[in-house]
Amino acid sequence: MIDAHVHLEKGDYSVEWINQFVSYAVKRNIDEVYFLEHTHIFKECRNLYNEMSVYNEYQKNWYQKKWEQARPLKDYIDYIEKLKQIDFPIRLKFGLEVCYSPEHEIDIAQMKQMYSFDFLVGSIHFIDGWAFSHRKQRWDRNDYDMDELYERYYALMLSLINSRLFSGLAHPQSLQCYGAYPQKDFRHIYLQLAQALCLNDMYIEESSGLAINYGDKQLGMNADMLECMVRCNVPILTASDAHSPQNVGLYIKEMNDLIQSV
Ligand SMILES: [Zn+2]
Ligand SMILES: [Zn+2]
Repeated sequence: MIDAHVHLEKGDYSVEWINQFVSYAVKRNIDEVYFLEHTHIFKECRNLYNEMSVYNEYQKNWYQKKWEQARPLKDYIDYIEKLKQIDFPIRLKFGLEVCYSPEHEIDIAQMKQMYSFDFLVGSIHFIDGWAFSHRKQRWDRNDYDMDELYERYYALMLSLINSRLFSGLAHPQSLQCYGAYPQKDFRHIYLQLAQALCLNDMYIEESSGLAINYGDKQLGMNADMLECMVRCNVPILTASDAHSPQNVGLYIKEMNDLIQSV
């Protein structure tokens, strides 16, 4: 089994630190882990946050704090190079989780050239500057036109896929982090997303991150989306979005069962 989304940022970049992740993976029968870091922790990725950091006061302060602690991408690259010399009991890959906005495709393309990462996964964390998954600005679905919001969310996802910048699409259900599930029948859009993913040779994540980090009651994609991805033969990679060693591999077995049951 595979866990395609694990973050190392909370520890020092040491061998001892990654070994903690690897030992949980082994315990949970995971034989491959994709490690990735958020672009917001790196100095070189500042431009990606131009819009989100002026959206409101809270977001401005959030990014300001990140910026003060930002590290050079080289720290991560040096760590990867060191880890590639070591024999681990499972396969490891190293990449980035990029906050995608259509305005920054050129910035992302330039970042991509800085180092040949094993993979780049694209995430929709912002809708036109609004960071919808931040706990400190929790929102109520009744205050929004949910159909319109989901249409915009999926349109951004489609442009992410069509940008040809990424190997995969991260957590495609993250807009529901506070229980705001899509109401309308979006199967025609899931089909468009699935076809675009195939055309661009990309995988989609079946992610337990929302269940783990937000207590979402639905594990992974909604049934319509998952069915569409399976029927269209989109490569589906299970992913925990773990930020700590003990969450690696969590619910991966259960999500494999869900995929199998389609
Ligand atoms: Zn994410
Ligand atoms: Zn993540």
